[in-house]
Amino acid sequence: MGPSDTSAHRQARWIRRFLYTYWLVIALHFLAQLGAFWWLAYPMGPKEFYCEVLLYPTLLMSAVVGITQLVDYAAPKYSFVLLFVAGTIIAMLIIHLNMDIRIIGALMLLPIMASAIFFRLDLTLFTSALQAAAFFILYRWDYRFKMYLNDFDLIAIPLFLLVGTLVAAIIIINGRELASDLEATLIAKQDLMIENAVIRKLSTTDALTGLYNHISFHEFYEKALEYGSQGAPFHLALLDIDNFKRINDKYGHRTGDLVLARVAHIIKEYISPADIAARYGGEEFAILLFEKSFEEAYELIDGIRRQLSETFHEEMENRAVTVSVGLQSYDEGATKEKLFEEVDNLLYTAKHSGKNTTLTPLSRQNIV
Ligand code: GH3
Ligand code: MG
Ligand code: MG
Repeated sequence: MGPSDTSAHRQARWIRRFLYTYWLVIALHFLAQLGAFWWLAYPMGPKEFYCEVLLYPTLLMSAVVGITQLVDYAAPKYSFVLLFVAGTIIAMLIIHLNMDIRIIGALMLLPIMASAIFFRLDLTLFTSALQAAAFFILYRWDYRFKMYLNDFDLIAIPLFLLVGTLVAAIIIINGRELASDLEATLIAKQDLMIENAVIRKLSTTDALTGLYNHISFHEFYEKALEYGSQGAPFHLALLDIDNFKRINDKYGHRTGDLVLARVAHIIKEYISPADIAARYGGEEFAILLFEKSFEEAYELIDGIRRQLSETFHEEMENRAVTVSVGLQSYDEGATKEKLFEEVDNLLYTAKHSGKNTTLTPLSRQNIV
């Protein structure tokens, strides 16, 4: 659901509220007239009152609102126009019936003000024009209305309507400015959020390989130890590319970079979404493995090693690069430093026992 969709819904809701308000106005007018007739000295006989003040006007106003409601249901695109035509007709009828009340002309201000809530200048101007027409019609054809107006009223009422329109226009323009300010603030806030996400990504990952960097590895490592101490096992692997200095020397630093990115790519392909792989140093990678048995972790890590040894690089005369790996599980009570040192030692031993191998505490026992 887009924003324009919700605003269309809001408009439809307000049109319905307007229609309910019209019914309320009709009912209140009905009761007020009846009360006035019963308790005040009403200048008219019962028959005339019941027909010409109570019945016919109420029926007429009800018909107008009923038609508007039907149109709103069947052809909502005319709802606005009809809504304010209906409002104007209701105001006109009430003015016509009560012109002996001096303030009644001010009723024409109500549709103008009400139209402002839609924040559409065209709608408010249209409604103002309707009031001007209503005033003219009443003045021209309603002799009793005309009778009650003096020369000052003739200037005052149109001026009243003009000022009312002006106030409504100010409200609309101010409201629109407010809305666009709000939108600008919202967009700025979204931009900032995206910027933050980008900065966060840049600060936590390594640009060449796209893996997590040294700093974020340590954050994850500490979290892993915390969960480990609560009984969730994990495994730590350190991988170091074999003879990488020679690769740089022989094929150039750029080729070295390319190979680094490829190694990272293969690591990413092998690990599962729960695992964390980081570029720990220049050509050294650290991997945290979760939700796996030690055998599964070993299979995964040694799978990476085997895959690398079978991945041949065009830029290196179709040779492969190999890695040496140390892998160990977290043991309850192990500290951050102790586990890391032990895995580093395994890696060191792997380097000194021919490279291209994955060493674990078990396999080292076999070697030593
Ligand atoms: P070993 O098998 O014992 O690990 O030997 P090695 O040559 O891989 O290890 P050594 O630590 O002697 O050299 C690592 C080299 O990695 C040195 C450095 O120039 C290179 N290196 C580190 N970071 C980068 C990088 O971002 N790009 C490239 N191309 N080379 C890098
Ligand atoms: Mg190396
Ligand atoms: Mg190294």
